[in-house]
Amino acid sequence: MPGMPGPLVLPRPGEGEAWILIEDSVVTLIASYRQRLLGDSEAGGVLLGYRRHKHLHVVHATTPDQEDARARFSFDRLDESHARIASKHWALTDRRCDYLGEWHTHPERSPTPSGIDRREWRKIYEHRSQPLLFWIEGTECRWIGLAHKSRLVVVGSSVEGVGQV
Ligand SMILES: [Zn+2]
Repeated sequence: MPGMPGPLVLPRPGEGEAWILIEDSVVTLIASYRQRLLGDSEAGGVLLGYRRHKHLHVVHATTPDQEDARARFSFDRLDESHARIASKHWALTDRRCDYLGEWHTHPERSPTPSGIDRREWRKIYEHRSQPLLFWIEGTECRWIGLAHKSRLVVVGSSVEGVGQV
């Protein structure tokens, strides 16, 4: 479609010809939760999509629901809808559309993971053999990391429309 930005394509660190592909609909959806106003609370959810060889393809993100604990400087993903939606995608795609990671917002222009973020993420990735993405959406920039084999590496962070992320 003319004028559509298209998916975000990022090289997967340390993997040569492997890519992280994020559908434009996901980028737009997450950007819609940017904490632009002082009263905006953090938002978050899970990332869903496909693993093809070493490539990751993010096609869907869940969004905050009623039981999630949202504050200006914290987001706790407590609502069961995130797991329910992930299970539904898993079942409807013959177990191909998988859990690919987590996203949440920060009320800062150029976000970086907090100590709490790193501790909580580690609990998720340290016992998994598959790579997972961790995404923080700031008010103007985003930070995306990839955890694999108990290591978290930065995939990219920059201003939207200028850099690659
Ligand atoms: Zn955070």
